[in-house]
Formats: sequence, structure tokens, C-alpha cells
Amino acid sequence: MTKSSELLTELEELLDSPLADSPLVDENLGGASLDTMQCLDARLSSLGDIPVYVTLQEGEIDPRLKLLSHSSRTLLHKCPRKYQLYRLSSEQVSLEDEAQAKQTLTFDYGTIVGIGMQGALEGKSEDAIFLECFLAWEGDLLEVNTRQKKSFWLAMFAVKKFISLRAGGFLESYELAYYKNKPAVELSFQLTLPNGYKYRGFIDGVLVHKVTGEVLVLEAKTSSGTANSAMFKNSGQALGYSVVLDVMFPHTSSYTVLYLVYETKSYEYVELPFKKSLLKRALWLQELLIDTQLIDLYHSYDTYPMHGESCFDFFRDCEYMGICTLSTENITKPLTASMLERIEADSGKYDFKVTFEELLEAQVSKGT
Ligand code: SF4
Repeated sequence: MTKSSELLTELEELLDSPLADSPLVDENLGGASLDTMQCLDARLSSLGDIPVYVTLQEGEIDPRLKLLSHSSRTLLHKCPRKYQLYRLSSEQVSLEDEAQAKQTLTFDYGTIVGIGMQGALEGKSEDAIFLECFLAWEGDLLEVNTRQKKSFWLAMFAVKKFISLRAGGFLESYELAYYKNKPAVELSFQLTLPNGYKYRGFIDGVLVHKVTGEVLVLEAKTSSGTANSAMFKNSGQALGYSVVLDVMFPHTSSYTVLYLVYETKSYEYVELPFKKSLLKRALWLQELLIDTQLIDLYHSYDTYPMHGESCFDFFRDCEYMGICTLSTENITKPLTASMLERIEADSGKYDFKVTFEELLEAQVSKGT
């Protein structure tokens, strides 16, 4: 039932309710009481926000399920049912939606450290970097997470430490790459896949060796634990980002992905570099395609498997525990025209757009 029909039903019920017999009845209002009419007024005043629901064709997959990223793929692998429920419950269908939703201390902390590192790589002055960090902090300047050791001031400390690292010669043989006359930092990209799927991500930084021309993808991370190479070695995140770079750097066959992890408890940076060959990148593309086919398959069976082994994760129950067996329609939000508009408008907001076919061509030409 749509929201407008719900309101009409509510209106009919209110007009039929016993309130109609109360002393405060205005005959000109069809027998409804003044209280009832005030209540209706309030409800009807929200009519401007009524969403327009979209009806999908038989067999058509909800476009929200086709929005992939590194984190949504991780969720899909953990529990397909959770992926389905999360994507269909979330209002976040665009870059802007995500930015608004991530206003947390952890997100601010990661953003500030990333901005500071990028500023240092671009050779900006310390004052300019600090000002940018200050302006980018959205939350409370005095908020502190004592357990994870995160706050605005501790983020600034991490930035200062990175500036000192740089001044001490860290990555001095590299310079920032440029894309469309813009330094290749915090590059957003969208990869268009077959059947309407899209994969999006952000590349923290791309550097080029001053002598050899070797490309280095920098991925800045913060960890409240100890940085371990096993956490990142086979991660598809930066690997996927390096695949996208195949189009930007058609003559480079292998990349180094450098995870620079700032340990928030030891206040130290840990460098974890990994070489990514052409073969690994080709496999990443294939795996991405398999994920889209898996979603198609789950949809064709109308069954997203429940991976019970993921119900307890990160020391807590899954948020869908106890309700994921209910009907999907009852625990998710219907697709609206506004969501569809935002999904479509989102495509124009990336620094870099590439199609799956272009990537395949780049891979094949490098392989030969
Ligand atoms: S409770 Fe378990 S099975 Fe259900 S969605 Fe969450 S992880 Fe999946």
C-alpha cells in the first residue's frame, strides 16, 4: 500500500471513528471532531513529502542491489541476505548520501588523516594543511573516543607525524600523479559493469616514481589495533583501484600498492607494500563479474542465502538477527522515484569513469 493510500484509509477511519460523536463536532466537516481534523491537518501537511514509488518489471532487479563497492562486496560475501536487506533498507544510493551518513568521529578522523597526508604529498605548507583539516572536521572538536584513541587533536597529531615522515625523506623518490590537471588524490571513480551494475571507489593517492615511472597506489588506513600484512595482502580494495589505473597508465604493467596504516594506539605509521601483477588484476575483474552474476542468480531464485556463520561479527549480533527470515517487503524500504533520480544523477559526479569493456581491452593489450 502506498503512503497516499495509507493516508486516505486513515482519513476514512478517522471520519468513521467514535470521535465523530464527541461534543466538538463541526457539522460542516462531515461529522469529524475538531481534534480529529487537527490531527488530519498535521498528517496532510506532510503530503508534500509523499514519495512516488516505483514498480519494477517482472524479473527486474532493484537498481539499489546493483550498486557495488569494496565494502558492499565484502558484505555480499559475508551474508548475501544481509547484503540484500542492507541495500534495500538504505537511503544511501549516491556519493552525497554516503558523505552525509558518515558523520561520525571515526569517519571524521579517517578523513582528516587522509586530507593531511594528501596535503603533505602535494607539498602544501603545514599551516595550509592544518587549516584544511580543521575546515573538514564536521563533528565536535572536543569529542574523544578514549578506547580507540580518536579525536580531532589526535588526528592532527597523526597528520603532523606524517608531515615529519615526509620531511625525513619518506616517498621522496615519488611525485604525485596528475589527472586532468588535478593532483591524483582522493580520486573518485565509477566502473560500469554489464547488466547495469556499477562499482565505485576512491583512490587515496597515485604517485609516480621520478626515475622509473613506476606507479604506486597509496591507500591510507587507520587502525585501532596492530597493522598486520594479512589484513591487506589479498584485499581487493586497492587492487581494484590499480585495475582502474590501467586506463590512466596504459604502458605500465605492474603496480605497487602501499597501505600506509596509522596505528591509533601506538601513534606510529606502518608501511605495507604489495606488488600487483597483471594476472592478479585480471582475476580481480573476473571475480567482480562473478559477483554480479551471483546477484542475478540469487534474484532469479528469489533467495539470497543466509550465511549463519556471519550472524555474530565484530563482537556483536547482526542487526537483522531475528528478523531476516521475515518477508523482504516488510523489513525494507520500497524503491522511490527520488532514489532512482539520485542513482542516475550520481554517475556525473565522479572524477573518473570507465567501462568494464575498456578495462578488459587495457588488460588484453598489456597482456599481449
Ligand atoms: S542475522 Fe545472520 S543470516 Fe540473518 S542477515 Fe544477519 S548475518 Fe545474515
